[in-house]
Amino acid sequence: MIIAIDGPSGAGKSTLGKRLATELGLLYLDTGAMYRAAALAVLDRNGNIYDVDETTATVIKTNVELSGSPDNLHVFLNGLEISGKIRTPEVSQAASLISTLPAVRRILVERQKQLGLNAPHGCVLDGRDIGTVVFPNADVKFFLTAAPESRAARRFAELKEKHVETTLKETLHDIIERDTRDSSRHDSPLKIADDAIVIDSTALSTEQVFETMLAVVRERQKSVSALQS
Ligand code: C5P
Repeated sequence: MIIAIDGPSGAGKSTLGKRLATELGLLYLDTGAMYRAAALAVLDRNGNIYDVDETTATVIKTNVELSGSPDNLHVFLNGLEISGKIRTPEVSQAASLISTLPAVRRILVERQKQLGLNAPHGCVLDGRDIGTVVFPNADVKFFLTAAPESRAARRFAELKEKHVETTLKETLHDIIERDTRDSSRHDSPLKIADDAIVIDSTALSTEQVFETMLAVVRERQKSVSALQS
């Protein structure tokens, strides 16, 4: 089973994706972490992020690995653990910039497809283009969203917990800027897949969203097994 979760920054995709994957015994794939790791590789080389050829060449050479359980994910770049380094505002912006490059997207999308298809029991993937580009035939597609202020507050709390120095105002500015770039880019813009279930979590608790998503997946599982029997 492939479950696609798309939506803007700070909508709760990763929290809910991890919970669903744990509950259903599926692999969890944080595709944003792959764009972040690739961006860190470019920044580490002091490369010019706007140089398409140089950035693409760096991304082709990077080996990004994600391991561990959904609750305890580790991200490795060329064998070195970088989990703590990829959540800074600088890497967020760099990830958003390199994700506009079609060549970079092609490389990462191919890796995401392989990882999803090779997962023995299936996979929950969260990102921006999962239901539209990476797995257009996903079994279930969710589009999670919330008001920008509520997404910024959520993201700010996460960053504070990780001791990243920023303010709520900066966080709001950062996510609005990234969302605008993600939605307006030419290649694979952030958009709602025709068959996605849209959940606006502005007025909902994480628990309520989780229960809603789980009910949808269980229903889908029932109809798939009814078709097979
Ligand atoms: O999800 P997260 O905020 O960690 O993603 C970082 C950036 O990577 C996003 O702002 C977006 O530009 C990019 N991204 C993407 N496609 C995905 C996942 C992330 O373009 N599937």
